Amino acid sequence: MNIILIGPPGAGKGTQAHILEEKYGMIQLSTGDMLRASIKAQQPLGLQAKSLMDAGKLVSDDIMIGLIKERIAQPDCGKGFILDGFPRTVPQAEALDNMLAEQGKKLNAVIELKVDEAALIERVSGRYTCAKCGAGYHDKFKPTKVAGTCDVCGNHEFTRRPDDNAETMKTRLKAFNDQTAPILPHYKAKGLLKSVDGMTGMETVTRAIEAALKP
Ligand code: ADP
Ligand code: ADP
Ligand code: ZN
Repeated sequence: MNIILIGPPGAGKGTQAHILEEKYGMIQLSTGDMLRASIKAQQPLGLQAKSLMDAGKLVSDDIMIGLIKERIAQPDCGKGFILDGFPRTVPQAEALDNMLAEQGKKLNAVIELKVDEAALIERVSGRYTCAKCGAGYHDKFKPTKVAGTCDVCGNHEFTRRPDDNAETMKTRLKAFNDQTAPILPHYKAKGLLKSVDGMTGMETVTRAIEAALKP
């Protein structure tokens, strides 16, 4: 099964993609994670993207389409994939349609996670990640079991994203409303769009996604 998770920053796309990946063996394709890995490795792509990301602005369609096209063609994506953070513009959605058609693949569903703005700000403000294994946490909603120790790998170092602050969040929310929300009608017209209430607890959201994926 190939699905897209769409939602504003902090909606829970990464959290849910990770749960579905563990449960069903699908591959999470997070363009944000790919860009952050490229920054960490000091690759030209990352260096080019960093200032835009730090400002909360979108990276160019050409770059993002090239990145996903290459990734989706790799054999592990044959198990099914979960797109998290792509497509984010109408041209990206159209390019995705074309690349999937070329590769003989199709989308099964597009899940929209709906979360109100106050909750989004609270979620990104408390978000942090294990610096070693990338496990995601939240100060209030998902703290580590033992303070300062990653539940998954036992590491003691964590990172916070430079763009997870109230000021940059305004630009990111505007980018979502202006550039990403307009792709929803594209998928609605194809009968693929399912809206899920993302305001409930993480496990309840997972159950709602599973229900939306049932034929
Ligand atoms: P969020 O948690 O806000 O949904 P992501 O990790 O998906 O954030 O993305 C972080 C940043 O990476 C975005 O603000 C943007 O600068 C860049 N980015 C990620 N995916 C895309 C994309 N598909 N198109 C353009 N820019 C992207
Ligand atoms: P996105 O990938 O859409 O930007 P994340 O999955 O990273 O969002 O979630 C943002 C933050 O909110 C993380 O710290 C995560 O632990 C937390 N979070 C995710 N889903 C929920 C939820 N249903 N309720 C409360 N907090 C959540
Ligand atoms: Zn860890």
